[in-house]
Amino acid sequence: MQTKKMINIFLFITMFCLIFLIYLWYSDYEFKHNPIPQNIQSQIQKKKIELKSLTYKKYKIRYDVPVIISRKLNNNQFGMTIYKNKNIIILLNKNRFKENSSYMINSVLPHEYAHAVMFLLGDFSKENGSHTKRWQEICINLKGKGCNRFVNNNDIIIEKTNPF
Ligand SMILES: [Zn+2]
Repeated sequence: MQTKKMINIFLFITMFCLIFLIYLWYSDYEFKHNPIPQNIQSQIQKKKIELKSLTYKKYKIRYDVPVIISRKLNNNQFGMTIYKNKNIIILLNKNRFKENSSYMINSVLPHEYAHAVMFLLGDFSKENGSHTKRWQEICINLKGKGCNRFVNNNDIIIEKTNPF
């Protein structure tokens, strides 16, 4: 009788773990194969509007910087700002949203947006991976939470050294 009870408990735990594992696989699969969840998308949209209005307030710049959720960035890259043919786009790494979407929205997005504002101001300095004092000041003005100049970041692509 005792042994049977033990076996039942063992089976229950095994089943529970198996179901949990399947659930994890499924949620991973679902995340990878679907667009980013709607509530996160609207948080990004809200932040974008806030950043755009702060940029106008501080720098009198009206420019709608497209923010694209990308699956093509390296896993160690949170975001990237690209300047090409006088257009600017910000890429955010989709995979990184799974772990911490609030970090992506409140730190990474303003960090990248500050790079975009630098480009819009015609500043293409590459000093310290473009994390200059001016960049930091812009990042802080945009209420960013990731404005550290001395991070090991390589998140800028400029098509030409001097586009003007
Ligand atoms: Zn950066």
